Amino acid sequence: MRKNIVAGNWKMNNNLSQTQALISDLKKQNQTSNAEVMIAPPFTNLWHAFEALRQDTIEVVAQNMHFAENGAYTGEVSAAMLKSVGIKTVILGHSERRAYFNETDASLAKKVDSALSNGMRVIFCFGEELADRKAGNEENIVGDQIKNALFHLGADAFQNIVLAYEPVWAIGTGETASPEQAQDMHAFIRKTLSEKYGNEVADEVSILYGGSVKPANAKEIFSKPDVDGGLIGGASLKAEDFFAIVNAF
Ligand code: 13P
Repeated sequence: MRKNIVAGNWKMNNNLSQTQALISDLKKQNQTSNAEVMIAPPFTNLWHAFEALRQDTIEVVAQNMHFAENGAYTGEVSAAMLKSVGIKTVILGHSERRAYFNETDASLAKKVDSALSNGMRVIFCFGEELADRKAGNEENIVGDQIKNALFHLGADAFQNIVLAYEPVWAIGTGETASPEQAQDMHAFIRKTLSEKYGNEVADEVSILYGGSVKPANAKEIFSKPDVDGGLIGGASLKAEDFFAIVNAF
């Protein structure tokens, strides 16, 4: 059975003392669902967050990494460095990385390879822009993003891959995809996987939805059969809201 996952992507938010405060609030929350829970603080707070949550079930994950092992890449962080501070999972391909930092399907394929060969798990993000959806082109865009960055992998690699569908028009806009739009796209994503790797692989991959998920809409979105959780931005910055979403399963 594939896992339900709720991951909080803090983006470029929270300095050290804010991180300490939010983690302390998170620890006071009561989890009533079976979802795996993750938070992704900025690089500077990963070690602190890992230490602070060592005894907790909340996993600390990274928001990005470079594909090289080390070397002259000023400002970058590698998989080996993340692992050295306890991080075992990395978010790759977030639309903000693609839009503002020139990440492409080709560079993401290299990042995925590096993460997997370092034994890490990948949360791979993708999603269409508003113009793509208006043109009825969303499935082509999403299909290509998945194929270009992931379809060089063998079937076994998908044991360590979580997919996150985040339509760009729904991120931080307050406009969520309807539960039906999310379900339709998630079903398409699973079909795309199954055509290449077979049903057994496709049925085991968790597919998360991201884009303006809040306590008020999480339950309905998560009730859809192919939606296995959420990647949460804004609402992950308040412990009560985040756990209301975690407990929406
Ligand atoms: P919001 O939940 O703020 O829309 O952000 C979604 C997101 O980008 C998570 O990675």
